[in-house]
Amino acid sequence: MSKRYDIAIIGSGPAGLSAAINAKIRNKDAIIFGNKELSYKLSKAPKINNYLGFFDITGSQLKKAFKNHIEAMDINITEEKVNAVYAMGDYFAIMVNEKSYESKAIVIATGMEHSKPIRGEEEFLGRGVGYCATCDAPLYKGKVVTVIGYNKEAEEDANFVSELASKVYYIPMYRDKYGLNKSIEVVEDKPMEILGENLVNKLVLKNKEINTDGVFVLKDSVSPEQLVPGLEMEEGHIKVDKNMKTSIEGCFAAGDCTGKPYQYIKSAGEGQVAALNAVSYLNSKK
Ligand SMILES: Cc1cc2nc3c(=O)[nH]c(=O)nc-3n(C[C@H](O)[C@H](O)[C@H](O)COP(=O)(O)OP(=O)(O)OC[C@H]3O[C@@H](n4cnc5c(N)ncnc54)[C@H](O)[C@@H]3O)c2cc1C
Repeated sequence: MSKRYDIAIIGSGPAGLSAAINAKIRNKDAIIFGNKELSYKLSKAPKINNYLGFFDITGSQLKKAFKNHIEAMDINITEEKVNAVYAMGDYFAIMVNEKSYESKAIVIATGMEHSKPIRGEEEFLGRGVGYCATCDAPLYKGKVVTVIGYNKEAEEDANFVSELASKVYYIPMYRDKYGLNKSIEVVEDKPMEILGENLVNKLVLKNKEINTDGVFVLKDSVSPEQLVPGLEMEEGHIKVDKNMKTSIEGCFAAGDCTGKPYQYIKSAGEGQVAALNAVSYLNSKK
């Protein structure tokens, strides 16, 4: 039987990190999923003046302070992307590529994806469109795949897919140097629409069209409904009460994913409330 954590925290931005430190202070065995950047929204901020105690700092300075804090408390981020969370009754099953984890309570702190879906993306989801390249790559052995990458992590996934697919196109949605295998063709163009009949067969870009069997759309986060099937939403955000409880027992949410304002300190505050209520939930089950 795999280990069952007390709390699984999904997301390593201010909401998830604040949840993690509070879970640790309350002596709970927590796992936090995310990435070593913590949050791209943190590293990108040019100037922050509204985080109490840190006047006139850059996002990367605040990131460093967060990193020092979690390191001092011996909190390690599990650098993996959670693909789905299933409520199993008295525990949660957390799916990460080919692995799965278990926890008694969960805190969703995945942030907010601002880019709109591409036309056809939702229609063809599961019929050629996917959000997890490493999970679904074997389906495209010997086929043509297009990866639309919103961040540098997507490059690794594209490289993995290129080992199986006959051809991989990479559409970067950011500007940088790309660490891609030589066989991958980079297309710097704007995706407009995904087309097909029963299955995907084409990606229409602003300046050209690509015939493709699959399209992976790789963003920082997927929509919460996709991540946790059955989760009640309200105007595009996870519905929570003032204890950060969601519609699923034992599942809490914090940060941008619960609604506006989108701010660091609101996210950190909600992460704390979510963790403390997750602790109360666990204690009530004893
Ligand atoms: C350029 C810029 C400047 C800003 N300036 C300010 C400012 O001055 N003041 C202010 O208060 N706010 C500012 N903000 C807003 C602030 O960045 C957000 O409100 C805050 O980062 C939200 O925190 P969060 O923890 O909810 O989510 P995020 O910071 O978005 O963190 C979520 C993290 O979880 C990870 N994640 C998502 N899904 C998964 C998954 N399935 N598995 C594993 N990991 C996952 C993501 O990759 C990300 O690292 C700014 C934002 C931007 C973009």
